[in-house]
Amino acid sequence: PKLVYDFAEGNKDMKELLGGKGANLAEMTNLGLPVPPGFTISADACKVFLKTGSVPAELADEIDHHVAELEQKMGKKLGQADDPLLVSVRSGAAVSMPGMMETVLNVGLNDDSVNGLAHHSGNPRFAWDAYRRLIQMFGKTVLGMEGDVFEDAIEAAKQAKGTKNDLDLDANDLKALVENFKAAVHEHTGREFPQEPRAQMDLAIEAVFGSWNSGRAILYRRQERIATDLGTGVNICSMVFGNLGMDSGTGVAFTRDPASGQPGVYGDYLQNAQGEDVVAGIRNTVPLADLETIDKTSYDELMAIMAKLEGHYRDLCDIEFTVERGKLWMLQTRVGKRTAGAAFRIATSLVDEGVIDIDEALRRVNGAQLAQLMFPRFDSEAGKELLTKAIGASPGAASGKVVFTSAAAVEAAGKGEKVILVRRETNPDDLHGMIAAQGVLTSRGGKTSHAAVVARGMGKTCVCGAEDLDVNVSAGKITVKGKTVEAGEVISIDGTTGEVFLGEVPVVPSPVVEYFEGKLAADSGDELVAAVHRLISHADDVRRLDVRTNADTGDDAARARRFGAQGIGLCRTEHMFLGERREAVERLILAEDATERDAALAVLEPLQRGDFVELLDAMDGLPVTIRLIDPPLHEFLPPLTELAVKVALAKERGEDPGRDATLLAAVERLHEQNPMLGLRGVRLGLVIPGLFAMQVRAIAAAAADLKKQGKDPRPEIMIPLVGAVQELQLARDEVEGVLRDIAEAEGVEWSTPIGTMIELPRAALTSDQIAEAAEFFSFGTNDLTQMTWGFSRDDVEGSFFSRYLEKGVFAVSPFESIDREGVGALVRMGAERGRSTRPDLKLGVCGEHGGDPDSIHFFHEVGLDYVSCSPFRIPVARLEAGRATL
Ligand code: PEP
Ligand code: MG
Repeated sequence: PKLVYDFAEGNKDMKELLGGKGANLAEMTNLGLPVPPGFTISADACKVFLKTGSVPAELADEIDHHVAELEQKMGKKLGQADDPLLVSVRSGAAVSMPGMMETVLNVGLNDDSVNGLAHHSGNPRFAWDAYRRLIQMFGKTVLGMEGDVFEDAIEAAKQAKGTKNDLDLDANDLKALVENFKAAVHEHTGREFPQEPRAQMDLAIEAVFGSWNSGRAILYRRQERIATDLGTGVNICSMVFGNLGMDSGTGVAFTRDPASGQPGVYGDYLQNAQGEDVVAGIRNTVPLADLETIDKTSYDELMAIMAKLEGHYRDLCDIEFTVERGKLWMLQTRVGKRTAGAAFRIATSLVDEGVIDIDEALRRVNGAQLAQLMFPRFDSEAGKELLTKAIGASPGAASGKVVFTSAAAVEAAGKGEKVILVRRETNPDDLHGMIAAQGVLTSRGGKTSHAAVVARGMGKTCVCGAEDLDVNVSAGKITVKGKTVEAGEVISIDGTTGEVFLGEVPVVPSPVVEYFEGKLAADSGDELVAAVHRLISHADDVRRLDVRTNADTGDDAARARRFGAQGIGLCRTEHMFLGERREAVERLILAEDATERDAALAVLEPLQRGDFVELLDAMDGLPVTIRLIDPPLHEFLPPLTELAVKVALAKERGEDPGRDATLLAAVERLHEQNPMLGLRGVRLGLVIPGLFAMQVRAIAAAAADLKKQGKDPRPEIMIPLVGAVQELQLARDEVEGVLRDIAEAEGVEWSTPIGTMIELPRAALTSDQIAEAAEFFSFGTNDLTQMTWGFSRDDVEGSFFSRYLEKGVFAVSPFESIDREGVGALVRMGAERGRSTRPDLKLGVCGEHGGDPDSIHFFHEVGLDYVSCSPFRIPVARLEAGRATL
């Protein structure tokens, strides 16, 4: 199969094969835009390399062929001594992973061709600088040397010269530096820096392939849930130079503001600089608009190209470009990353502009973005001390203790502390620290710097380019306008406004939440709220899944209803037994005979009844699924060890342990090695007489109360942890008896569907039988995941899961997102077999997965009727249920 593609041979839809960068370079080439000629080595070649450790045998010939073509096109040969063709070797995977993989520039320079470049460009300083950059990048990337080796040498050269500015190093200084670098390569690797251009290229290609599995790339993929086996393409592109003088430069641009979504081009430009200088945020850039005065011809051409690209891609594009002596070159474009708010605003703007339809707009936003928009903001009314104002690069409101290194961020976060990572600039090795921190603050770089791009991708609050900030890492302090902030002091950063405050600033709800709460109208003038309203309304129009909530109190139910819940999918009644009521439960457990037991139940019943009145009232007219008690009873008693010690101490002191001794006996009696597999769920109902009946009486009486007030209560009774139809039938008989008694005694009628949870593999396997005794199923995917994988849901997260994620057993915890092949297969089977017995069987899901975007798409596919999730997830679930139909 073909492994190498000329830029003219590909197109934007070939991302999987050519990577995003390669596919889009091809697209731009075919649009007739000024792209420096080059070719792309496919991700297939990378996959072979990753599997076998070497590139496919036929690759060398194909590259030869494409290099020859490129040389012909450019009229010069790779590394040619008098006027060398130089190329960049750049990574580019199907999914964007900013800065996570490697790039080597200026390949083709050696001891001879550097002179040719110097002569031909008429700029020896530039040529030696290019050569020094090549050796530096090659040393780090290909030869695995520490970057410090090179940076320290540059630092020493500058010191010797008595300057702090790279630009003060002249051609001779750089020439000396090159000698220095070559010696360092020899010293650290035992080999010479390769002089043969093609050898440089081949080694660089392998290094780019290998960088797919660098630590930071692996971490980034895990964070962003990117598949581990995609591999990367490699782009070989003829070099153009932005560092040939002040009539050259390099920049990054967006066709709209990626932070707010506002129309209008946006970007950063840096004169006399090469590629990575902008993204690295090493020097401060000027706004793109300034290019108009610097070089109007290039600016006008760029504006025309950006308009063309946006029209072509029908979306916000981001662009990397270079101006070489007044000639504009396009180095990259892609549909650009954007903040959550920008995603909603851009999608609806494009509808208004007639570029896309509303379905497409809904496809372009997602639940994770909506969730981000629901985070609180800083209170504008609160008193605060402003330290400085810089660039709001990724929205959010974050407070935390100042830390200066990623290691410190990780350590503090491990102790549960909130931190803000403060850096001059971040680089890809800071990923750990960025993940651990609440937010990131940098003193250099613009909206397109590494910190900004990565933070936006992760939805992490970021303020960058705070030039007033003097970040002194070794002294562990920041100075800003005469004030000093030490490591460990708390600051707050606003990623929308770019403000940095001393101390912790109180937060207020986001306008999007105010809108969902009904406190802010869709047409109140807030453009973000208007966009959210339009898209969620469209999702509601097209979705088939209902969205219910998991709620145990009237307040939660009421809030969920405001957020759009269409009922309660799970009320965990055991949550009503906590706090002061625990004593009554204790008495029930300790009861020695029927009289004591009935007395304990009699205390609980009116309390439960009150709870149910609240809940059914809050959801009047909507279904309320009430699950009878589920957890093992010892969960309501004090812990064994604590109690044993207490009793032992009392005995030692010669005191009577009294009630504690009785309690201890009960705890010991109820102790189970595997309580999750023990006496819980329907099993409890079947062996503790009167417990289920008490709960059903309370539900029925609550419904009767409301019915008599003219209301429309719609309780549904759910039996947990059923594994066999016999269990369900026994429980059902008891429940039906009680319901009949109460209806008769109260003289009112209503219907109460009785159903079960499907949370044991056996229940899913025998769901055709179980459906005979159930009017509805609710998939309890928390337990179903636990029971299917045999993973203790309470223990794994802190235990071996991080290793499993690292090793790629799964890309995301199966407790977070449904394991489609395993647990999902049981859900599918449960639905099919259940409906084979009872075609009108109502099907829902109430495990945590009910609020997870990817899982919601799965539940839509397998034909469930509703998902149920916590109140705050409801808008997310509505949006994703809509998106699932598109
Ligand atoms: C479940 O198991 O998925 C469920 C919803 O029940 P719980 O989380 O209460 O065990
Ligand atoms: Mg469960």
